[in-house]
Amino acid sequence: MQHHDWIVIGGGPAGQKAALQGAREGRRVLLVDQGRAPGGECVNRGTIPSKTLRETARHFAEVRRRSADTLAVEVTPDVQLAGLMTRLDVVREAHAHTLSAQMEREGVTFRQARARFTGAKTLLLQPPSGASEDVSADAVFIATGSRPRKPADVPIDHENVLDSDSILSLVYLPRSLVVMGAGVIAIEFASIFISLGVEVTVIDRNTLPVGFMDEDLSRGFVRAFEARGGRFLGGRQYTDVAADGLGSVHVTLEDGEVVKGEKVLCALGRLPNLDRLDVEKAGLTRTERGYLVADAHGHTSVPGIYAAGDVIGPPALASTSMEQGRRAARHALGQPVPDEDFGMVPSGVYTIPEMGSVGLTEAQARETHGEVLVGRASFVELARGMIQGAEEGFLKIIADPTGTKILGCHALGEGSAELVHLGEMAMLGGLKPEVFVDRTFNFPTMAEAYRVAVQDLLAKARTARGSVPRVAA
Ligand SMILES: Cc1cc2nc3c(=O)[nH]c(=O)nc-3n(C[C@H](O)[C@H](O)[C@H](O)COP(=O)(O)OP(=O)(O)OC[C@H]3O[C@@H](n4cnc5c(N)ncnc54)[C@H](O)[C@@H]3O)c2cc1C
Repeated sequence: MQHHDWIVIGGGPAGQKAALQGAREGRRVLLVDQGRAPGGECVNRGTIPSKTLRETARHFAEVRRRSADTLAVEVTPDVQLAGLMTRLDVVREAHAHTLSAQMEREGVTFRQARARFTGAKTLLLQPPSGASEDVSADAVFIATGSRPRKPADVPIDHENVLDSDSILSLVYLPRSLVVMGAGVIAIEFASIFISLGVEVTVIDRNTLPVGFMDEDLSRGFVRAFEARGGRFLGGRQYTDVAADGLGSVHVTLEDGEVVKGEKVLCALGRLPNLDRLDVEKAGLTRTERGYLVADAHGHTSVPGIYAAGDVIGPPALASTSMEQGRRAARHALGQPVPDEDFGMVPSGVYTIPEMGSVGLTEAQARETHGEVLVGRASFVELARGMIQGAEEGFLKIIADPTGTKILGCHALGEGSAELVHLGEMAMLGGLKPEVFVDRTFNFPTMAEAYRVAVQDLLAKARTARGSVPRVAA
């Protein structure tokens, strides 16, 4: 049996970062993935493909909006979907190439095989062809990711009823799409398809999409989606989903309404990829929902076995997975792991328009701090926003009742996922909101939204203190 310092199972964002961190510190690391190269769901079916399609959709939406009625820019239903992901192969291959080269450069050994535990830190590796191999390690990292959940009452056949994997393999653009669910993946696809000219209906049992985001962002998304002709059926529950055999799928709701679509996307959550890993043989336990149990450093209940990424459950993002992988590796190396304030983990939702968020939502801030102050900037107030025609965008900054501590920053509109990092750094540095008023900003920039929102916030703070508000310049 070949022994390694570390074995990392899964070559997605969590596994890559754990493997690289270990190799850089001199550990002999074997990275195992059932795919041909490192990349994981992120590169093959998740972030990269969906964002590549989004780029085309955003472009179409933009051209259509800018040309108003003067130029007909429509994507017809007979357009091949692959044609709309023009840069996908280039992006995917470039990404896979960069990752493989990086692994090689840093001395990580990659092996294509399916892994399963045979004991605490022993595994059987089954390559696509050739003999299986028994291996062991001082430390094992489980980063096997997740897959779409298939509810028993939804007949996902990947033909009429699709999941987030199979929707990317659609040959032709459908005329209409019903999206079941209003989480991140659901509404990202909803806004991509509506921007491509498809008739889209979103159905969810919650009244608003992405309930973990600030309510103004969720409402702003619904407003923009409906303005593009989409239907958002919030607070509604499905009772039946069935293809009629004539080219459409009927989704029946509790109140009897039947919503029809040429295709249905079922995006009702994800499940960890653990079924064929035999984690029980390693003595590992799983939560009620099937995820692996790990502490803040990714350490499981079995010494020397770590878990990171989607396999330990929400937030299940590539961004958080990478950080979890790094943290687990640092813990295994005996290096100090800085405390992370999990309330400060930023979120980017790549809808059209995009959402970015960090810190407390307004509702959370009110719960913990009482009468908080909220400063707002509409993107069209900014020269750059006006030039870009960012009508629906805004930034809101939430501060404590004295107006001296920033508690959260939330933005809607193109570039918002980037924009909130500025607020995040101010929050991490403990900077007062005034810092955004006292500095010179490049002009024109979207970052100026911070100055406008803080001016609004400080005016409200003065009003709250009973002094006359100064007019913001
Ligand atoms: C449509 C979509 C869009 C998304 N968009 C974003 C986004 O914009 N931003 C963002 O931050 N996140 C996004 N995500 C989430 C992101 O893709 C995941 O959170 C991330 O890929 C999880 O990383 P991971 O390392 O845990 O696992 P994965 O990326 O899932 O990789 C796990 C790897 O392990 C392999 N594996 C599984 N079992 C075994 C086994 N037994 N043996 C060997 N190999 C195995 C799998 O084949 C896979 O290659 C999106 C996801 C989807 C589905």
